[in-house]
Amino acid sequence: MEISTILDKIHLQIQPLLSQGKVADYIPALANVNHQEFAMAVTLNNGEFYGVGNYQQHFSIQSISKVFSFTLALRHYKKKLYRRVWREPSGDPFNSLIQLEHENGIPRNPFINAGAIVVCDSLISKAADGELALKDLLTFIRLISADDTIGIDESVASSELQHGFRNSALANLMKSFGNIDNDVEQVLTTYFKQCSVSMNCQQLSRAFLYLANHGIDPITQKQILTSAQTKRVNALMLTCGHYDASGDFAFQVGLPGKSGVGGGIVAIIPGKMSIAVYSPALNEFGNSLVGTKALELFTTYTGLSIF
Ligand code: GLU
Repeated sequence: MEISTILDKIHLQIQPLLSQGKVADYIPALANVNHQEFAMAVTLNNGEFYGVGNYQQHFSIQSISKVFSFTLALRHYKKKLYRRVWREPSGDPFNSLIQLEHENGIPRNPFINAGAIVVCDSLISKAADGELALKDLLTFIRLISADDTIGIDESVASSELQHGFRNSALANLMKSFGNIDNDVEQVLTTYFKQCSVSMNCQQLSRAFLYLANHGIDPITQKQILTSAQTKRVNALMLTCGHYDASGDFAFQVGLPGKSGVGGGIVAIIPGKMSIAVYSPALNEFGNSLVGTKALELFTTYTGLSIF
């Protein structure tokens, strides 16, 4: 079956599910979206593009940004980064504090909030301040998306700043263990802005291509990561990319991927393509409900997964 036919089939099949799930509202600005929205985009390693639904509509990428920041931090710190953040699934919700206390302020992985806050802190140390770290991150995202228009939704960032009590608790706890080097407020402001980057499915599917091609952007041939680093990012996406539902996502979909509470998910098929999906209503674990189903249907219809 052609990819465009498969996307049309999925679009039809997910319609009855669009009324299910719940949009994230713990960040009030995230609730201002159309709950029924659905879009899916596929970019092949040769640059061919397929999309269905409103794939040019921007949304808050939220935790999908953790893949970009982790990639940048890996480039800077290489293996030294793993002294501050581990690579084990947490089995706990994305914003949980409990494990962090028991494990002396070292987050389980870079894709839970605590891990991403540490990664953000490491980028600030490298760049000298939060503003510059954010600028570097945006430059990087624009480079790998081949799109200079990508920016931050400031209203989402300030909404999160006003309500980010749990993230603030995580950052302060890690600071007390000596695992945050910079000023906590600066780290949180930078982290919230990173989460508030606004992108669409087309841009996201383009941006993740380096992870589907051993760390080299298959279109520009620019090396983003080494092949070994890429293997590790993908392994972390598979084992930790969907919080405490990562096992279930691997079981249902069979691809490395990363979700965000804004309703986006990006997954890659090594050597072949990157797939982005958007549908803002979430399941109980904070992952897009319809997005997960759409990806499951995609791997079922194409017969492509990493297993
Ligand atoms: N900005 C969100 C938070 O820190 C990210 C969570 C997510 O997308 O899973 O709560």
